[in-house]
Amino acid sequence: MQRYWGLNNMIKIKSQREIELMREAGRITKAALIAAGQAVRPGVSTREIDAIVRKTIEDAGAKPSFLNYRGFPGSACISVNSQVIHGIPSAKTRIKEGDIVKVDVGACYRGYHGDSAATYAAGEVAPEVRKLIEVTRQSFYEGIRYARKGLRISDISHAVQAYVEQNGFSVVRDYLGHGVGASLHEDPEVPNYGTPGRGPRLIPGMVIAVEPMVNQGDYHVRALDDGWTVITADNKLSAHYENTILITEGEPEILTAGEAI
Ligand code: MG
Ligand code: MG
Repeated sequence: MQRYWGLNNMIKIKSQREIELMREAGRITKAALIAAGQAVRPGVSTREIDAIVRKTIEDAGAKPSFLNYRGFPGSACISVNSQVIHGIPSAKTRIKEGDIVKVDVGACYRGYHGDSAATYAAGEVAPEVRKLIEVTRQSFYEGIRYARKGLRISDISHAVQAYVEQNGFSVVRDYLGHGVGASLHEDPEVPNYGTPGRGPRLIPGMVIAVEPMVNQGDYHVRALDDGWTVITADNKLSAHYENTILITEGEPEILTAGEAI
């Protein structure tokens, strides 16, 4: 994957009107993610979860951002156990007791996107697996402590990596967070690892998706032949957590507000 530290002039600073539309896109995105999370249980297929996401988004007057995005066939990416991201919903994939299920959702409302993901356990999981899910979620919050005017993108990246590694897990490096706006993926790139003090400076009006992907084992991943699904190279578990946030004059504002887990 090509990496670059974009200049700030590649980053679109959102107007007040755009921010209001993105709040609504974020609200719909999170509502669909919560509905998906409530549907995760042993016996359900990932296709059924996908249908719930699509209905929730469309009933709210928005469009699923992922549906047909570069040909993606679902409204949500649903990735089970060692699948990291970009899992394709399928009637053949049935959730089993003890699985962990990553649901990634985007909604487009009047031309603006929201992007949010979370990891759900189906039934009982081992304490170590529960810890993986919790550390992944908390690493997002550790990261956005640095999502403040005047700091730099990699200050967020570094905080995510440090927290994850202190807890004995690894952060995926081949896939990154990103700017969000009229496009689902915009500048800047937002890595989940790196040395602090690098990359674009954070400016009020920037909107970014911060999305740690955390592996139980090694950080290496590989893509499957279906052209989408990314799995851990060592077949150990992976977790994901994501929100779309707005840089402000003070604390960052989570546009995909509300607790998914
Ligand atoms: Mg996402
Ligand atoms: Mg994203």
